[in-house]
Amino acid sequence: MVAERRVAIIGAGIAGLCAGVYARKRGFKTEIFETHSIPGGLATAWKRQGYTFENCIHWLLGSKKNGDLNDMWREVFDIDQLEFYESGIQSVIEGCGKRITFYRDIDALERELLSKAPEDREAILDFIRDLRKLSHFRLPMGDNLIDKAISYVNDIPYLPILSRASKTTVGEYARRLKNPLLLAFFQQMADLSQIALLFSLSWMNSGNAGYPVGGSLRMIQLIADNYRKLGGEIRFDSRVERIVVKNGRAAGLKLQNGEAIDADIVISAADGHSTAFELLGDQYLDDRTRKRFKTLKPFPSYVMVSFGVAREFAGEPELLAILLDRLLHIDSETELGVASYRIFNYDPTLAPQGKTAIVSFIPTYDYDYWARLRATSPERYAEEKRRIASGIIDVFEARYPGSREKIEVVDVATPATVHRYTNNWKGSMEGWLLTPETGARELPCTLSAVRDFYMVGQWIAPGGGLPSGLMTARRVVNGLK
Ligand SMILES: Cc1cc2nc3c(=O)[nH]c(=O)nc-3n(C[C@H](O)[C@H](O)[C@H](O)COP(=O)(O)OP(=O)(O)OC[C@H]3O[C@@H](n4cnc5c(N)ncnc54)[C@H](O)[C@@H]3O)c2cc1C
Repeated sequence: MVAERRVAIIGAGIAGLCAGVYARKRGFKTEIFETHSIPGGLATAWKRQGYTFENCIHWLLGSKKNGDLNDMWREVFDIDQLEFYESGIQSVIEGCGKRITFYRDIDALERELLSKAPEDREAILDFIRDLRKLSHFRLPMGDNLIDKAISYVNDIPYLPILSRASKTTVGEYARRLKNPLLLAFFQQMADLSQIALLFSLSWMNSGNAGYPVGGSLRMIQLIADNYRKLGGEIRFDSRVERIVVKNGRAAGLKLQNGEAIDADIVISAADGHSTAFELLGDQYLDDRTRKRFKTLKPFPSYVMVSFGVAREFAGEPELLAILLDRLLHIDSETELGVASYRIFNYDPTLAPQGKTAIVSFIPTYDYDYWARLRATSPERYAEEKRRIASGIIDVFEARYPGSREKIEVVDVATPATVHRYTNNWKGSMEGWLLTPETGARELPCTLSAVRDFYMVGQWIAPGGGLPSGLMTARRVVNGLK
């Protein structure tokens, strides 16, 4: 046990909560400061007229007992309290009168792709071969030298594929494809490193990427409850304005309301850009951190159209992508060619009986446009949201006739909403994109000019995701003196 040293944590997203749990377990006195009124950050959902619109979790890596990461989740909460849903299908894409199903099982996926897109046989077989190979790969988990040495030896057979796939983007792979549906599926993730897609599909194949019933709110609540049970404190509606640095070490926080908080250690689990440039102030940044924000590419932000429909969609795919006949204009960066719908018929907690929550997610890089529009022209902002919702609902109505008249509520979130509620730079959905430039390694979590200061969360783990919060928090807190 460490004597009651005080750790001040900024942000109650998954990373901040996990840091809090690990720090309490090590005997630190902890307080989390969160600007929003609820925990979760990006891992959230909102309730409208009896429907809950899920913002985040499609799948959780570590859902399977004894699967990669499952034991680590157990360190921060009782994951057995979650019920995981997992169907055999990852998604379906439709268009030009055709349909391709992306099965989670690799053999079924191979059969489906070869039969529906025989013109792309060579490219499909290459992709499936890589997927099959990676499905046996175990994530390195150990912290000590022996564990690291063992995992290095285990990794040797995978090094060629890891190296090749992390140097290629999904877009580069997609250039080999001719089939319009297959091409559209892969092009949705064009900037992403191919390794990220291969890993996601291989975790799905192994049954270790289920969806927790109740979604983000349920999972986050369980972690926050455990943190409080361990004696941790959270202060909501408490925006941090500055990290106080004295004699080269982080000595506490200054809150927006003027309050001063003393601490022995400060951990920022908040947005990476504002931590570096606002909370700390420019003068403490080293060149490598500054360069990161100039050269690396963040994940896009998104417009999210959610609607509640007073009917069931039994047997319909949980994630349906529809190739559009005409592009739908979203903003200067985004002409939507594929509309996707999460049909939450698999989570009864998200809608009253007999009704269904539907969420359509539209990635976009045009954060400035949405932020400016909301700030300068609220009426046009509202009009643009209505226009996009109407386009998305038109496509849904064409696919499921009669749905429109059963829609009871529509909600639209934009990149400006994402920033307002989570403070993420440019409204990014997952921090840094995993690209050939970033590689898969975690970024440094300290600054040489400020002792007793650490960063955790998606902005130091390219690729982001809920596991980035867990893994970075664990590594940082277990290394604290
Ligand atoms: C649409 C979408 C789908 C996703 N799907 C999945 C998925 O299926 N599986 C998966 O694993 N991941 C998914 N993710 C990614 C995952 O949600 C994020 O990577 C993860 O939640 C990030 O956690 P974090 O704690 O690092 O950051 P955040 O969630 O951004 O948390 C940061 C917290 O800090 C607070 N904060 C910021 N500034 C301050 C300040 N100055 N003072 C006080 N508090 C502050 C914020 O309010 C926020 O609560 C998805 C994300 C999105 C948007």
